[in-house]
Amino acid sequence: MNDFKKAELIKKYRNADSRMVLLDYDGTLVDFTPMPVAAKLTDHLFDILIRLLDTPQTEIFIITGRGHQETDKIFANLPINIIAEHGAIIRERGRWENQINNNCSWKETVIPILNQITAECPESFIEEKDFSLAWHYRNAESQSGFAHSRKLINNLEAIIHSYDLKILDGNKVVEVMTNEVGKGKAVMKLFEQKNYDFILSIGDDATDEEMFEFFSHITKAYTIKVGNGDTFAKYKFTSINDVVFLLKQLSL
Ligand SMILES: [Mg+2]
Repeated sequence: MNDFKKAELIKKYRNADSRMVLLDYDGTLVDFTPMPVAAKLTDHLFDILIRLLDTPQTEIFIITGRGHQETDKIFANLPINIIAEHGAIIRERGRWENQINNNCSWKETVIPILNQITAECPESFIEEKDFSLAWHYRNAESQSGFAHSRKLINNLEAIIHSYDLKILDGNKVVEVMTNEVGKGKAVMKLFEQKNYDFILSIGDDATDEEMFEFFSHITKAYTIKVGNGDTFAKYKFTSINDVVFLLKQLSL
């Protein structure tokens, strides 16, 4: 995103009567760490978010694939709205609400497939969330991790249709969930609930593409991808620092 567009974004944000800001967490606000639980907000960013939350007519959402108990801990001291588990469960004004039904019987079929690949690929691990299963390979040797992730996706593709599941091929993580869930569906719902005249959505990963795609034809929406690669986002940032700097400017 060039300086001219950035200045335009800031001006539109200031002039808007109602705003929605959607921020992914890992790889967007915090760096990846070997164990996901170690990824914490810096004090600097915490202060910026506090200021943004104080802005009238502004709804700020963290939109993440992380489990809701985990995000509840991370944001215990910040009264921010959270869309967790790729939209399956949402915290608004401090209350969590499931967005989909709780039938996760498909997990019984998927867990043995994940166990097998975990046994074959040292340092990989499984994370179980309420509405999804994730297999992380960021700590595995990189070639072996990648090769096993392709094998896993192949094995999963054989069963997903019978359970109406989808596979998210993320940054060193392969995640399985039902087709009912997704950041695209989550933001569509929010978008339809209220008339916002400024929207900003920032993310870095394959799961964020659903929200970028949803906003791609909505002119009042600014979508920004952090990092390289093909994207539905209208703009790109190089790093997390660019995100923090933009949020700081919006908070002033
Ligand atoms: Mg991310």
